[in-house]
Amino acid sequence: MAWARWLRRHGWQLPLHPLQLVGMAVFAALVAAFYVVLGLGPYIGSTVAGNTLLALFSFSRSGKAPGVGLLHAPFSLLPMSFPKAYWDQALELAPLFNELVDRVSLDGDFLQEKLARTKDVDSFTRRLLDIHSKMMKLNKKEDVRLGLTRSDYMVDGATDLLLQVELNTISTSSNGLACGVCELHRNLIRQHERELGLDPNHVVGNTAITQHAEALAGAWAEYNKQSAVVLVVVQEEERYMYDQYWITVALREMYGVTTIRKTMAAIEAEGELHPDGTLVVNGLPVAVVYFRAGYSPDDYPSETEWRARLLIERSSAIKCPSIAHHLVGTKKIQQELAKENVLERFLDNKSDIEKVRKCFAGLWSLDNDTIVMSAIESPELYVLKPQREGGGNNIYGDKLRETLVNLRKEGSNELAAYILMQRIFPPASLCYLVREGTCIKDNSVSEFGVFGAYLRNKDKVIINGHCGYLMRTKAASLNEGGVVAGYAFLNSIFLT
Ligand code: ADP
Ligand code: MG
Ligand code: MG
Repeated sequence: MAWARWLRRHGWQLPLHPLQLVGMAVFAALVAAFYVVLGLGPYIGSTVAGNTLLALFSFSRSGKAPGVGLLHAPFSLLPMSFPKAYWDQALELAPLFNELVDRVSLDGDFLQEKLARTKDVDSFTRRLLDIHSKMMKLNKKEDVRLGLTRSDYMVDGATDLLLQVELNTISTSSNGLACGVCELHRNLIRQHERELGLDPNHVVGNTAITQHAEALAGAWAEYNKQSAVVLVVVQEEERYMYDQYWITVALREMYGVTTIRKTMAAIEAEGELHPDGTLVVNGLPVAVVYFRAGYSPDDYPSETEWRARLLIERSSAIKCPSIAHHLVGTKKIQQELAKENVLERFLDNKSDIEKVRKCFAGLWSLDNDTIVMSAIESPELYVLKPQREGGGNNIYGDKLRETLVNLRKEGSNELAAYILMQRIFPPASLCYLVREGTCIKDNSVSEFGVFGAYLRNKDKVIINGHCGYLMRTKAASLNEGGVVAGYAFLNSIFLT
């Protein structure tokens, strides 16, 4: 890999000296401080702020109290070179996927029908579908719809195609962290311009925070109630605390919008629905509910949390996402959309349909016995996915074979809980990866996500576009991805 040659040629010795790593950590903190001072102004709620900071749970109160138990997020030492053609392609796809999500979300029968078999065997999907079905019965319309999406891709080494890994419609995270690492890389390259011989301007700037804030503020404005707040739904122990704070800061500093942070349990305890549909939490009317939790069964440890989700859904607050938008992001719907003639049901323009279809990898339901047999024979060519989010849930290799064999033996309906996906093998290269202050060199592959924002009020599309990106790099030997899940390293793009 070119980075490795540059580093060696310019006298960097690996592993890096602890002092060099300390220097980098200080530098990351300085970049964060720079943001605070020059970018967005001081933020009172968080005494320690930094885009590249994560909370670490080995300290008591970490993840609960700002400033306690902090650790830099894992990051790549230098940005990843990435061809402009893929970048352009992914940007062009963003508004198409946003529109697709919205259109599919309006087809309640499609969602119910395609998820019906999964519902029977997966209790989490069932609970979500039950809320969705209640809303259908109430004929509940969401006039203002806000989607903050992230479409994730990998380059398939064998075909050179940019293939979609998945489309996230709920709690699309790392918008703050991604902006931070991009600034870090620009500054590192600027600082070492002579040794590296790289142009810092080739590191693609990241607008995820400002644009997501713009979309949330836009939705807040559509709700049109000055005293209303944006409610950020968070987990009890929140490792994305700092990632989320940047949105909060931007909303207040740039748009004068107040946010409150609540867990689902707190929303249930403090929330009420007024007769006109207004959601009021702790006395404050809520204009927008921004879910940064609620995507995993772990977020619903009891009936309390489900009551909170239903309360939110019944209200007139703008949900990001609505239950329908959430369901469109399930792996099962991704697989259904990849079937022949299904995109045509939702998109009109032939060339748009072609562009979307071109990035679909092979996706199959498990009622396709030929594919199931093929996956049992060659499990290394597939990924088995349940209807889960947040990383660490997919099944690979021998475990995949074992799972399929068992499910088939039982003749069980459980097969409907999963989908099969073609395994993508991105080209690998050597990278310098820093975790917990230690730098390692590893053969690595990358996954590239484009954030999207979609805001509409009835027939008027107010925002539909791409808004920043997330580059994640992980050891090529690993199956899973995900930064906070503990597999991947934050990265940025060096456009070539
Ligand atoms: P989640 O919603 O949990 O993030 P993903 O579908 O994104 O689920 O899968 C998690 C991780 O697994 C991805 O970040 C990626 O590293 C890996 N992965 C998923 N699908 C594939 C695939 N088809 N080929 C190769 N790796 C994959
Ligand atoms: Mg996901
Ligand atoms: Mg993912």
